[in-house]
Amino acid sequence: MNDVTIVGTGPAGLTAAIYAARAGFKPVIYAGIQHGGQLTTTTEVENFPGFAEGIQGPKLMAEMTAQAERVGTRIVYDTITKVDFSNPSKLKLWADQELIETKTVIISTGATAKTLGLLGEASLMGRGLSTCATCDGFFYRGKKVMIIGGGDSAMEEASYLANLAQEVILVHRRDTFRAANIMIDRVKNNPKIKIKTPWTIEKTLSDETGLTGVTLINLENSAKEDIKIDGLFYAIGHKPNSDIFLPWVDVDDHGYIKVTDFVKTKTPGVFAAGDIADPTFKQAITAAGMGCQAAITAARYLENLH
Ligand code: NAP
Repeated sequence: MNDVTIVGTGPAGLTAAIYAARAGFKPVIYAGIQHGGQLTTTTEVENFPGFAEGIQGPKLMAEMTAQAERVGTRIVYDTITKVDFSNPSKLKLWADQELIETKTVIISTGATAKTLGLLGEASLMGRGLSTCATCDGFFYRGKKVMIIGGGDSAMEEASYLANLAQEVILVHRRDTFRAANIMIDRVKNNPKIKIKTPWTIEKTLSDETGLTGVTLINLENSAKEDIKIDGLFYAIGHKPNSDIFLPWVDVDDHGYIKVTDFVKTKTPGVFAAGDIADPTFKQAITAAGMGCQAAITAARYLENLH
């Protein structure tokens, strides 16, 4: 039986692995669908301490992975699909058919980008539609793109896209934004970015090559407008990946795992760290901090079992 099984390899999971390994617990970490987490879809990271010149997101995650492996973590490139935590002294997880038994679990599965749920949306993903400007913006150099959302992500990604694209249209469903003023000002002062509020997408327009445009609808007066675009980016928030852990953890209205004492879920031996349990900060550094807290708490729990 494993001492510590970690689910998810973002900054929270990998930091938990580093601490658990150095405490002698031979952690096993499951990478899931997106090894490295959201930072692998980012370019420059300038706010993670220790890198005076900044560091590329994928490089940061590759370094964290190498560090976790060097201190004795076993990384499994598989996805946990089911769990059963009904017996806290023998927690069970499944990676497809493989059963994993463990004394503790650290959940660090992060969050996934939300979509609008429009008809035909799934078939346009990667064919003109993206949820990650920093990953896919490069493909739209010199082209016309649209971004949906009014939070910090939308503002940040609109500015990022403006460096690449010929024209960026930011569409938001309200006249006010939830983004920070500094981010909004940066967008408003960028001549390549046009802001349209209060509008949303009624439907996407496409041909056999993929997305060709959208039909927008004005949410005040129901006016409609067809706009030709080459790329469409969603920046409308994220959904925490907590579903498979129910009912053994409590979640809030948005699906974030509720914790006490920083990282404890309601099931003994099951801890949560990073964006999955953090509706407030959602930063790489806070996720890493929670990963550390989860590993130390798991180690104390294990020591008390003996
Ligand atoms: P967010 O703050 O939750 O904003 C989501 C935006 O999408 C909101 O403007 C929301 O509109 C809109 N939206 C949601 N569902 C929609 C729908 N179905 N149709 C149309 N619009 C929809 O998410 P976020 O921007 O990803 O930011 C998440 C967190 O990360 C925030 O705490 C943010 O501060 C932080 N963050 C920080 C930075 C930074 O500091 N550099 C960068 C990125 C993110 P409403 O406003 O009308 O609800």
